[in-house]
Amino acid sequence: MRTSSVTAAAVALGIALAAVVTTSVGVAPAEAAPSCSGDHITVGDLARGCVVDRGTIALPDGRRFAVPAAGTTVSALPVAAAGGHDTGDVSITNTGRAGVAVSLEHVWSGSPAAIRQVRAVHEGLVRGGTTAHPMAATTTKAAPTSSCTNRSYALLGYRWNTTIRWSSNPAGARAADAAAIRAGANAWTGTIAVCGRSITSNVRNTYLGTTNQAPAVSANGGCGTPNGANTTGWGALRSGTLATTCVWSRSGVAVEVDQRYTTAYAWSSSATCSGAKFDLRGVATHEWGHAYGLGHTTQASGLVMKPASTQCDVAQRTLGLGDAFGIDVRN
Ligand SMILES: [Zn+2]
Repeated sequence: MRTSSVTAAAVALGIALAAVVTTSVGVAPAEAAPSCSGDHITVGDLARGCVVDRGTIALPDGRRFAVPAAGTTVSALPVAAAGGHDTGDVSITNTGRAGVAVSLEHVWSGSPAAIRQVRAVHEGLVRGGTTAHPMAATTTKAAPTSSCTNRSYALLGYRWNTTIRWSSNPAGARAADAAAIRAGANAWTGTIAVCGRSITSNVRNTYLGTTNQAPAVSANGGCGTPNGANTTGWGALRSGTLATTCVWSRSGVAVEVDQRYTTAYAWSSSATCSGAKFDLRGVATHEWGHAYGLGHTTQASGLVMKPASTQCDVAQRTLGLGDAFGIDVRN
């Protein structure tokens, strides 16, 4: 019988524990409690299953993350300059008692118990799609381009239940930034004409104006400590990275988003981009796609959510078919 066997096991365990306690007096325990604290907690440390409530997690690629609060996932979502090194999407989930799980481009590491706990939920939320999709019927014909024929999208492990109320910090800006970043945020909202179709998106944002607060995005491409304010700003990022978005979520519901645009490259925020500059509005459209919960498609997709941007890539200001499918499914 199950009950009696469990009882017997418990009794046996009790005896075993008593025996350990009895015999271990004055002797170091065979399994010392893992040390997971300080400013350089490695994935190897996390793999020992330790509970972590403060400190800094250092990934092998050099990105560093303030340990998220128990029950919280932090995601770092970069966009590369074309030809630059793509560091990849990373999500770090602190489960609390089961430790911390790390997902780097869908490869898991960290605490085995945390991975088991997070992975099933995460993969239920993170999925891609290519075809069958409920979208408004075609009303007009648009000239076909690759972004109007490619139907792919990827979903990240969170969505918003609220309007994103955000501010911009213009300190260090390499171009007039507020209008261009707002246009990027608004490219995904309301009724959107895409490739001759029309969709109505449910994601929402409200721009609050400028702020002196800094986004919690680090120069190494990781994420710092969230402060409850959704903020965009400027600063150093690693060579090859144009911008990085950090999102904090709890049980799949996003609670904060911050963005940093690099000061290492020349940017344009003019209506018609020209010269050796990156188009801020186009890159911002990509970063806001991440903010709303979309991941990367392939570079060849030609979509807003492709992982790298070329100079004056003004096409990235306009949603393609897969982008529209993604934002429609996400919300
Ligand atoms: Zn990206």
